This record gives sequence, C-alpha cells and structure tokens, in this order.
Amino acid sequence: MKILEIREQTVPFQTKIRNSVVDFSQMTGSVVAIITDVIRDGKQVIGYGFNSIGRYAPSSTIKDRMIPRLMNAGQEKLLDETGENLDPFKMWTIMMQNEKQGGHGDRAHAVGAIDMAAWDTVAKIEGVPLWKLLADRFNNGKYDEKVSTYAAGGYYYPDKGISGLKDEIKSYIDRGFTTVKIKIGGATLAEDMERLEAVIEIIGSGSRVAVDANGRFDLETAIAYGKALTPYKVMWYEEPGDPLDYQLNAALAELYEGPLATGENLFSVHDHRNLIRYGGMRSDRDFLQFDCPLSYGLVEYLRTIKMLNQHGWSQRRCIPHGGHQMCLNMAAGLQLGGNECYPDVFKPFGGFADDIPVENGYVRLPEIPGVGFEAKNNLYSVMKKVAGQD
Ligand SMILES: [Mg+2]
Repeated sequence: MKILEIREQTVPFQTKIRNSVVDFSQMTGSVVAIITDVIRDGKQVIGYGFNSIGRYAPSSTIKDRMIPRLMNAGQEKLLDETGENLDPFKMWTIMMQNEKQGGHGDRAHAVGAIDMAAWDTVAKIEGVPLWKLLADRFNNGKYDEKVSTYAAGGYYYPDKGISGLKDEIKSYIDRGFTTVKIKIGGATLAEDMERLEAVIEIIGSGSRVAVDANGRFDLETAIAYGKALTPYKVMWYEEPGDPLDYQLNAALAELYEGPLATGENLFSVHDHRNLIRYGGMRSDRDFLQFDCPLSYGLVEYLRTIKMLNQHGWSQRRCIPHGGHQMCLNMAAGLQLGGNECYPDVFKPFGGFADDIPVENGYVRLPEIPGVGFEAKNNLYSVMKKVAGQD
C-alpha cells in the first residue's frame, strides 16, 4: 500500500457558548485525511481524523512538521510487517523525530489528529470497526456492546435563565440520557447551587449530575464549592483547579469525599502519571478524563492505560473527554468506564452515529469499518471535502 497524500484543513465550530473560562464562538479544529491507494469495496480507502474539541486547530504543526516527516520518511517505514497496512506506532515515532521532551501543548493535538486518521485507515483496510480492532489487538478480544454516556451541557448562555436550563435537561432525558453534566464557576456559588438544584429537580437525583469548573478555582474557592456540593452527592466534581496544580487537587481530595474528575487538559502519559503520583486521585471513586486525540493519540493512550494498570488503576475509571467517536470506539474496544457526549454543542465534531440513539444512558456503535465517520453525516460531509471527495 501507499499513502498518496495527507491533507489538513482548519474547520470552524458551529457553537456560541461559554464555560467559566472560554468563549467557544471562535473555536476551530483540524481535519486530517490520509489518502491511500488501497481499494476496499470498490472505494479508495481514506482515513480521517481531527484534534478533538476545545483546543484550536494545530494546522501549522501538522502541515509544517508532521506531514512532511511522514511523507519524507520512505513509505515502507510507515507500514506494518505485512506491508499492506499502516503501522500507527511507527508513524508516531517518525512524527516525534526531532521533538524535545516535555511541553505537551498543541503538538500533542497535531499528532493526535494524524494518529486518529491512521487508526481509521488501519481499520478500514482490515474491514472492521475500530472498536473491534482494538478489542482484538489490545484487549484479548473483549469489548462492550454498549457504552455508558452522559449529556454534557449546562453551559452559560447569554439570556438563558433557570427555566431554559431546565428545558435543556428535559430534552436530554427525552433523548435517552439518564445522567448530565453542567458548568459551575461562571456565576456566584449561590447562583450555581440554584442551577444545580433546578437540574436535580428535573433529573431526580444529585447522583445523576456532574459539575464542571473548567479549572477555574483557587484552593479556597474549590473547597467552598466542595462543601456546598457535598450534600447533593453529585456524580462527580470536575476540574476544580488548574489541571497542572496537582497539590491543589490533592488538598481538595483530602477534604472532599465525593468523586473528583480531571485530566482532559493533560496531554501526555508523563502528565497523566504525574496526576496519579501527585494529584491525590483515588482509584476507588475518581474519574480520569484523558482525551486521546488531545494527548498524542491512541498510541500514547495505550501507554497511559499500561501506566494506570501498573499504579493499581483500572481503565474502567477512564471516562474520556470530547464527546466524539474516537474515544467512543476506545471506550467500547478497550472497555473504559464510559464516554462523554455533547448532544447539542460542538457540531460537527461532537456526537455519534446518526441512526443509533442513546437508550437508557447507553449508546451502541456502528458496525461499519473504521472509526464510523461515514455514519455521522454532518461530520463526514466536512471530512469528504477535505479529501476532495465531493
Ligand atoms: Mg470538562
């Protein structure tokens, strides 16, 4: 096989929301297409990827460093032992040539987007869904037929009051969700508790609601919120402090008995390990939200799972950030603990296959080869254009 071309294009998000820190109206993403000379079912195999949600398109890193390294390496160096498919591990090593250790920022998303396209290619050439390929290669053939998911919403919209928030939560329940997540920290503590109570009124229990501060709080505020949240027994309290402030997290974990969740803004196995070593996270109740394409892709995520297991953590404690199909495949094929879902925001990247509804809090995956982008029309129509397939 041969890679004919790797393309990247910046795509805007169709979203007008904010959390306690970021206004998403200017947000972009990178779509990557790996165009091959392989034909399956009468069609040219093209693998697609993107850099998840919530960070900007790392276009120049992809175009100026990653794609040239891969295309100049010599095609045989990108292939597995059969010579008929890509080897994402070899590709990863080539992409990271001449890159220094540490400082895992946009570069991690650039590698992650290409890594996703590589795995989509591999599964399409094998003719299997990615979740099945992952189960067979890395999980002794075991997979979950359906994945637990939750509706991530509850953002701060201009002019949307408590009644608008209640309507939003009702609409998630109508669409098959049993658990939700809302933002905190973008209003006063009293206002946020009022919002939380309104949501609990609709969904029935605090244990069905997670709250997300997006890393905004100092320790004092994190503790104040922790005390206020305790009686509600929320599903989890997410990113209370800065994602790299492990001491804050550890101090809060000493005081706050309920589940904590964090990790979406940690972009390498080294950062993930530091969270486990120094962040006070508790393997019996807390959740790890590392997002594969934000953190050097699946090749690195497999290293993270190995590291977690060595530290006595089950990968069932991982519920990845991002609400996208790549992490959903991993949740099923590597038997993680679940996956985020954005029912209404971050289109076209957020969301799963069009014709597979969420049922009783769980979602199934399509049986088509690859990640499953072809079963999600709004995203696939964008991806096709990047590959010149219109
Ligand atoms: Mg979050």
